[in-house]
Amino acid sequence: MKAFENQEVWFVTGAQLLYGGDAVVQVDGHSREMVAGLNESGNIPVNIVYKGTANSSREVEAVMRAANNTPECVGVITWMHTFSPAKMWIKGLQALEKPLLHLHTQYNAEIPWGDIDMDFMNLNQSAHGDIEFGHICTRMRVQRKVVVGYWKNGDVQKKIAVWSRVAAAVADARNVRCLMFGMNMNNVAVTDGDRVEFEQRLGYHVDYYPVSSLMEYYRKVTDAEADALVDEYRKLYTIKIDESGEEVYWEKVKNSAKAEIAIRRVLADEGATAFTTNFDDLGGADIDIPEFFGFDQIPGLASQRLMAEGIGFGAEGDWKTACLCRTLWFMQQGLPTGCSFLEDYTLNFAGDRSSILQSHMLEVCPLIASDKPKLEVHFLGIGIRKQQTARLVFTSKVGPGIKATVVDLGNRFRLIAQDVECIEPKAMPKLPVASALWVPQPSFEVGAGAWILAGGTHHSAFSYDISAEYWDDFAEMTGMEFVHISKDTTIENFKKELRMNEVYYLLNKALK
Ligand code: MN
Repeated sequence: MKAFENQEVWFVTGAQLLYGGDAVVQVDGHSREMVAGLNESGNIPVNIVYKGTANSSREVEAVMRAANNTPECVGVITWMHTFSPAKMWIKGLQALEKPLLHLHTQYNAEIPWGDIDMDFMNLNQSAHGDIEFGHICTRMRVQRKVVVGYWKNGDVQKKIAVWSRVAAAVADARNVRCLMFGMNMNNVAVTDGDRVEFEQRLGYHVDYYPVSSLMEYYRKVTDAEADALVDEYRKLYTIKIDESGEEVYWEKVKNSAKAEIAIRRVLADEGATAFTTNFDDLGGADIDIPEFFGFDQIPGLASQRLMAEGIGFGAEGDWKTACLCRTLWFMQQGLPTGCSFLEDYTLNFAGDRSSILQSHMLEVCPLIASDKPKLEVHFLGIGIRKQQTARLVFTSKVGPGIKATVVDLGNRFRLIAQDVECIEPKAMPKLPVASALWVPQPSFEVGAGAWILAGGTHHSAFSYDISAEYWDDFAEMTGMEFVHISKDTTIENFKKELRMNEVYYLLNKALK
């Protein structure tokens, strides 16, 4: 079974009738064999559907319009087996609204030196046809990914796989509804932005959802429902009772379970797959009035558990990161190591191992845990309810990963990705929260400096499983600016890139 069983990618082969019907029949046969080979490779998690040869402007336009109108189709792969004069692609490319991958490959790996004749060369001329197709895409400023190499090559298939995963996530983003339980935190700039432009550009629909309505769900959760969920917690996590004592521990865990059940029900009823919270807006009264109580603690445990199931989460009303976390989880389905919402908290200066402690007050996704998480209850002195609060405690796996964010620059969204190396932290017995510790690449000084120059957020969507190629594809498909901070970054060149992009996006906007 493929990880994305409800979505498909279309494969369209460019040809023409100049070389006669027999040639097209051969092109068609080769294409079928190639698509079957790609599907059976085990490398591509989305089913590729062969849609035949396109031999005229009318046929190209028809298949592109059909792709637009087929919800399961998340993108189109094109390949020019033979020569396919590119004026016949103009109207189809104008019509296409889905991501495009141009595969520059060839049916046969090597030239049959002893047998090659004019017919063979005319039939197998993707070297010629793909360049003609590339020209019209560039001339028309069509956003696309170009993958070059032999179709049976694993590296080529993996590039197609990355693009397919991202295309599936872009399709998902158009259906994401993000509920904001409370507004973004007072005075915070980076978590805010233009939600109308965000929906136009990326598809995510972000809505305020009244905390008072969430409380109506919360008050209706029964003790029996909460007890059943607490039993599940007992199986999944290590129970660790500390200074709160048994009675308070189980009361807080049970109320957390109620909050989780309430949030789940709202999300299901509203068709939402992402949400934000605000620790100054927990509903109800400050004191326990039986008919009008609110959350007794920040619902951090619920946020941690929902994230692990693919519900995007952003703390403090950070709707952009909530949506990005949903997309990250969606695109990396089936990959082994996990992803999470994280926040830059505290610096550790230690020479060339200088690092940044990543954590949050509570909300880190257990998918990145190195070990079985501990369910703990501790006092949390932040927010409107200063209370004993349940949370999952763990440290992250070590190894390379990538953090990403989207910022609103006023005239555009910028996607910033940064390679990081997660390292082992020292014991922090007085900090009972989930955390990661990483060294930004290429070094703490350059990496953190570039992130700040790019206007990056303190919140990010982090993953061990994906690479910058995913975020590059995502930015390409959604028309966002993309910058990547990697082992090759220097501050001097990065500043130049940011300045060049400033001009490019000003001009690009004027062109459209
Ligand atoms: Mn935060």
